Amino acid sequence: ERPALSETVEADVAIVGGGFTGVCSALSLAERGHSVVLLEANRIGWGASGRNGGQVLGGWSGESELAKQAGPKAEEFLWKTRYLGNEIVEARIQKYDIKCDYVHGAATVAFNAKQMKGLEEEYADSVEHGFGDYMELVDGPQLRRHAATDAYIGGLIDRRGAHCHPLNLLLGEAVAAEKNGVRIYEGTPVTKIDHGPSPAVHTENGRVNAKQVILAGNAYHTLEKKTLHGLMLPAKTYVIATAPLGDELADELLPDNLAICDSNWVLDYFRLTGDKRLLFGGRCTYSNRDIDDIEGELAPRMRRIFPQLENTKVDFAWGGVIGIPLNRVPLIGKASENVFYAQGYAGHGVNCGHIVGEMFADAIRGKESGVDLFDKVSHFRIPAADTIGGPMLALGMTWYRMRDALGV
Ligand SMILES: Cc1cc2nc3c(=O)[nH]c(=O)nc-3n(C[C@H](O)[C@H](O)[C@H](O)COP(=O)(O)OP(=O)(O)OC[C@H]3O[C@@H](n4cnc5c(N)ncnc54)[C@H](O)[C@@H]3O)c2cc1C
Repeated sequence: ERPALSETVEADVAIVGGGFTGVCSALSLAERGHSVVLLEANRIGWGASGRNGGQVLGGWSGESELAKQAGPKAEEFLWKTRYLGNEIVEARIQKYDIKCDYVHGAATVAFNAKQMKGLEEEYADSVEHGFGDYMELVDGPQLRRHAATDAYIGGLIDRRGAHCHPLNLLLGEAVAAEKNGVRIYEGTPVTKIDHGPSPAVHTENGRVNAKQVILAGNAYHTLEKKTLHGLMLPAKTYVIATAPLGDELADELLPDNLAICDSNWVLDYFRLTGDKRLLFGGRCTYSNRDIDDIEGELAPRMRRIFPQLENTKVDFAWGGVIGIPLNRVPLIGKASENVFYAQGYAGHGVNCGHIVGEMFADAIRGKESGVDLFDKVSHFRIPAADTIGGPMLALGMTWYRMRDALGV
């Protein structure tokens, strides 16, 4: 536990939010010699970063839309950063000796011919851009050697993708940031940001005077409404973890310990944890409604994939809020000259949070960073998002779920 802020302090950079975006930005900046204060409303990792499924996948969400709007420079950026998040994570695990059960190997799997065609195209694209050596396209029987299920007709294995215990990764990075001089305050919600040449962030009992501010509150904040309101609607999504399976059953289900996600719009994903539980995530609600019985919703889905788990107990169930911009392109940019923001990675936050930390550290030092590419993208803003936004998104997602069910 860390203290709350109860005074006025000075820093080069004030950061709002202690998830991957905030902590990675803090660490990247501190490694370059900047003084940083990070303010977290709850505890480090309390938001999506401490609750997520731990899949560390390559790429961004909304790639085709970003490329469409920002052109060839964006495409080049997307390929250049494809595995940058994984590389940063791997370097930090080494450098700071972070114990987070990091394992290489992930696969995206297909339920139907249309999804398989999408994976074939992704494979061809990866080969064209020099990533073919890490990828393997497999049909149903071949896939069965990696995941003991008949649910899929094939998949794309990506040996540079990975999975880990995300909260332990983040906590390790927070400690590394502190060792590099970052001051972290918990239980300290930011109530207001002052813009201008010397911006400041205000809390109930304190204030940080800074040269730059990074807003990293993701789906959990209501700051900067003029710039950010109605661009992203929070979706709730859920995870269960079984009792430890033991080596034999764990090796039978996932012999080479891949993290797997399916190709549906509203997708399910799973992996083994360090202590050999099956962690299974999926199911979203878009109406701000919580699921009452998470296990009741998710366990049958898990057992449809792995009937072998019919009698395996579920030990843990939880949910979190994920930020989904309507065109799926993450919201990364500037609210004013010295106030940056990043949010809405739509399920790619472990890798993208790490990349964004480096991007901000470069942008703040006046270097080319990629922030401007995202800042240029026009986003659809839902009018009166508080009242009609939830139902609209719910309607949209019902449509996508219907498409998943029909395989179109
Ligand atoms: C259940 C679930 C499963 C997921 N699975 C995966 C996965 O397998 N792989 C993947 O890559 N991504 C996954 N994601 C998405 C990923 O977790 C997020 O994209 C990522 O963690 C976002 O990081 P962040 O730092 O931007 O936001 P968050 O981790 O949400 O952190 C924001 C923080 O800001 C704080 N905050 C908010 N307002 C204020 C304020 N006013 N003052 C101070 N602090 C404030 C909050 O308390 C919170 O701790 C998943 C998300 C969920 C919810």
